[in-house]
Amino acid sequence: MFKALFQPVSRSVRAKLLMLVLAPLLVGVPVLLGLVWTWGNEAYQRLLTFKIQADLIIAHEYFDRVRQGVGNDLRALAESQRLAKHFPFRDEVPLSALLDGMLARYQVDFLHVLDPAGRPLASARGARAALPDRAHWPVVTSASAGLAHTAIEVFTPDELAAIDPRLSARAHIRLVPTAAARPDDRVSEERGLMIHSAVPIHDAAGVLVGVLEGGVLLNGNLGIVDRINAIVYREGSLPLGSKGTATLFLGDTRVTTNVHLFGGERALGTRVSEVVYRHVIDEGQLWHGTAFVVNDHYVSGYEPFVDSAGRNVGMLYVGFLEAPFRAAKHIAMGVLFAIFVVISVLGSVLSLRWARSIFRPIERMNTVIQAVEGGDSAARVGALASRDELGRLATEFDALLDTLASKREQLERWADELDRKVAERTVELADANATLRHAQQQLVMSEKLAAVGELTAGVAHEINNPVAVIQGNIDVLSHALGDAAAPVREEIRLIHEQTDRIRQIVTRLLQFARPAEFAGYTEPVGIAGVVADCVVLAGHTFDKRKVEVVEAHAATQSVEINRSELQQVLINLIVNAVQAMPEGGTITLSSEDWCEAGEAVGAVIHVRDTGPGIPAEALERIFDAFYTTKKGSGTGLGLSISQTIVQRYGGHISVESPSGAGAVFSVWLRSAAQFDESPNAPGFQARWGRGEG
Ligand code: ADP
Repeated sequence: MFKALFQPVSRSVRAKLLMLVLAPLLVGVPVLLGLVWTWGNEAYQRLLTFKIQADLIIAHEYFDRVRQGVGNDLRALAESQRLAKHFPFRDEVPLSALLDGMLARYQVDFLHVLDPAGRPLASARGARAALPDRAHWPVVTSASAGLAHTAIEVFTPDELAAIDPRLSARAHIRLVPTAAARPDDRVSEERGLMIHSAVPIHDAAGVLVGVLEGGVLLNGNLGIVDRINAIVYREGSLPLGSKGTATLFLGDTRVTTNVHLFGGERALGTRVSEVVYRHVIDEGQLWHGTAFVVNDHYVSGYEPFVDSAGRNVGMLYVGFLEAPFRAAKHIAMGVLFAIFVVISVLGSVLSLRWARSIFRPIERMNTVIQAVEGGDSAARVGALASRDELGRLATEFDALLDTLASKREQLERWADELDRKVAERTVELADANATLRHAQQQLVMSEKLAAVGELTAGVAHEINNPVAVIQGNIDVLSHALGDAAAPVREEIRLIHEQTDRIRQIVTRLLQFARPAEFAGYTEPVGIAGVVADCVVLAGHTFDKRKVEVVEAHAATQSVEINRSELQQVLINLIVNAVQAMPEGGTITLSSEDWCEAGEAVGAVIHVRDTGPGIPAEALERIFDAFYTTKKGSGTGLGLSISQTIVQRYGGHISVESPSGAGAVFSVWLRSAAQFDESPNAPGFQARWGRGEG
């Protein structure tokens, strides 16, 4: 999925745009999550603070009611006839008995009847004897002035003991050390936190006759905190698992509470932390927040309460266990986080998929471009699902490639055509050049030969005459000398021989220069006969022990030619063959009919030898006049004259020489000669140009 992202971002448009799309999601969502987390926490704290404030208000109201309830009870008692009838005061005993009954009924912890000056007249449980003057209590002073008053007061241990030793015992609370508690040297709390109330007693005439004083000791008074707790944290008002608590503090010490210790007993005697104490008792302010209470974190609210002198003597506390709220918060945050994560992941996946579908045409085009660059001109984007601008672009891209391909094909075809034409023209040009060169050579050669012919003919005549004179005179000399010539007979013979050779050479030169002058009459010549004659005529030129001659004739046709000329041609070929085999060998003379279009038009005579053969470069030149490899002894005219003779009768001489396997000269002759004496005829050219090979 993130393959695209792994590509260098700078090189991929898709990666860039993906970053653009995903950046808000991947950056925005965590920021949003952080904000939600912060706001959630703040809201959570505010909610808890609101709740604890409300709880504290309810607790405060209830505690006030309890306080007022004590005052109301005393007022009802003071106004009752049963008390009024004891005035004017006469006897302590019946009044104490009445107070005993009332003590039980009104659930107060002590009851005193005082005179208007605050001196004790009677007490419940007959405690009056030890009771000091009550006038120093503000509530009593107020009642003496005719005004009922109820206040929270702290009673010293002595005072409690004077009222009732049992109250001292109840007030006694052993201090229990806890981890976060404010340091304190004391081991116990002996003072009593009291709801202290006093109401005036009037007689029937409305004259103040006394004061009724009573109190409810709050130390260890579990009923009050349980009721506060029950009212503030009614069943179901807290999330599952949380627990409400309420406590009354005397100074820093829990004197009544429903907070429990680890063992399950109430946490009486444990103390508040220094921070809360300073804030609430010293500074007289409310305190809200999460506090570690005895053994757990509680969302807590503390408020101070004052005695009648206005001193902060204690605190009212309510709180509930934070853990379930925290757990609920964590669950909510967790769910929120999970939702965010799921949204982010889903968003990313959808974005990526969407982006992929958007970019597929571009990627395909890119792939196609690379393929085309790599030589695959048939590569195309092909059909795409996307119908947007990019999809259309891809389709257009394909069309463009098609057009390009067809144009290129056309260009290639043109280029091929051009190449072909250039090649054709080049060949034509080369042929034309060759022809031109050939024609030039022919021209030059024919001019040269014409000159040579003239020269040769002149020279030959010039030479022939002196030679004839020499030969005639030698004959005359020889004849005149008679036997006297015997000592020089050998020299005379040599002179004859050499003058003969001169005549032969001159004759050949003349035959070469003026071939037509040498043409004789023609006749039908039988092949086997003429070949046999030639073998006999040439026989003296070779050693019969070294050269074997084999004849094999199959020709049925006779040929039309001058017999002696044919002999000259064949003897020339036989002599060449013999000369090619100085170490000896076999000369095979064979013949067959020359057929053209299934019809015999003449005969062909083959002269085959077993010599070294003729190299390819020489094959082209052996019919050229004056070409010879026999330096000194050869004239280079034999084959040239032979070709001329044969061609004059419409035939020709060809040669084959497979490398190293001897040479075969074939003489093609017609049964009916076809004479061609034009200067451009092949026969004429062959005398000085290239022969047929
Ligand atoms: P010449 O015999 O005086 O050299 P030719 O025209 O008869 O002149 O022959 C030309 C050349 O052709 C020879 O010099 C020789 O090199 C070559 N030739 C002719 N016949 C043969 C042969 N049978 N085997 C090899 N070479 C030959």
